[in-house]
Amino acid sequence: MEDWQKNLAQSLTTPEQLAAHFPVDVATLALVVERYPMRITPHYFRLIRAVGDPIWRQCVPDPRELDDLDQPEDPLAEESLSPVPHLVHRYPDRALFLVSGTCAGYCRFCTRKRKVGCATMRVTMGDVRAGLDYIARTPQIRDVILSGGDPLLMSDLLLKEILDGLSRIPHLDLVRIGSRVPVMLPERITERLCALLRCCCPLYLNTHFNHPREITPEAAEACARLADAGVQLGNQTVLLKGVNDDPEVLRELFRGLLKIRVRPYYLHHMDLTRGTGHFRTAIADGVAILESLRGTLSGLAIPQYVIDLPGGKGKVPVCPDYVQRMGDEVWVRTPEGGRIRFPEVRG
Ligand SMILES: *Cc1c(COP(=O)(O)O)cnc(C)c1O
Ligand code: SF4
Repeated sequence: MEDWQKNLAQSLTTPEQLAAHFPVDVATLALVVERYPMRITPHYFRLIRAVGDPIWRQCVPDPRELDDLDQPEDPLAEESLSPVPHLVHRYPDRALFLVSGTCAGYCRFCTRKRKVGCATMRVTMGDVRAGLDYIARTPQIRDVILSGGDPLLMSDLLLKEILDGLSRIPHLDLVRIGSRVPVMLPERITERLCALLRCCCPLYLNTHFNHPREITPEAAEACARLADAGVQLGNQTVLLKGVNDDPEVLRELFRGLLKIRVRPYYLHHMDLTRGTGHFRTAIADGVAILESLRGTLSGLAIPQYVIDLPGGKGKVPVCPDYVQRMGDEVWVRTPEGGRIRFPEVRG
């Protein structure tokens, strides 16, 4: 067993283990964990400072997960967009390949909480081969996104087999990996893994930091190893009520990410997933946050704010509206909050 696997095995997976450190209602949380699994890595657990803090909220089960019954389990209609199991083909040129059924830790707000860490998400070697076959015989696909679960929880051997399989497909321009491992289990980013990733080019890795306190020295070193291996690093943040729905928190997060060579890519509006209602914010809250960042933060640090539409209709950007038309005149709001008339070309 490698060191990271030993550490992963030390994760907290039951409310009783939490109760040894914090006052929690074991019986109530056990009901939640029966439905949606819990796993908190030793590294992530050390980041908790107090009950209910932004780290706690992301990883400790909450009874409200069982109250939110109005929403669908699969709002993005991923199951109906899967030509073969564990592969979602929503856009003509891109395929989302769910190669791993488990994650280092289970995020309470996860859009795939219906199945991550559950038996239905187990991916077999046969599924992997069927997915690779589908990609190989579908030449419109140029971009494959390995996700899950978390692809970096697979063994180096299996990951290499998948990456080698993908690099033999001539119509692919790039491969992306989506992984929260740099945040939750940074020790998984070993030199051996980086050597394996270096051979597969061009490779983009979108990681998933949601709060500046997740940018630890260990996470920064993991990102440095990946960047040094030639992996292009991006970040996807989910806008979460009570965790990061605050312009100052996101400003610090996005600045901190650029400092560790990770480019903020998307800020996701919460999906309408059953069991996650207590994390939902209004779209207007996200827009207001973006407006307050614009003009006071490096443009490189500002991600695109997106909504993944229900029913698998795809992602759309949500942008503050700076341009206003009044009759023949065009007025533009300035980042400072003023307004100037812009000499629009007449058609
Ligand atoms: C998000 C997503 C993608 C990738 O979208 P980009 O906007 O290119 O990052 C591809 N397929 C599915 C099913 C997705 O949900
Ligand atoms: S790491 Fe990603 S896939 Fe896994 S539980 Fe968290 S959000 Fe879901």
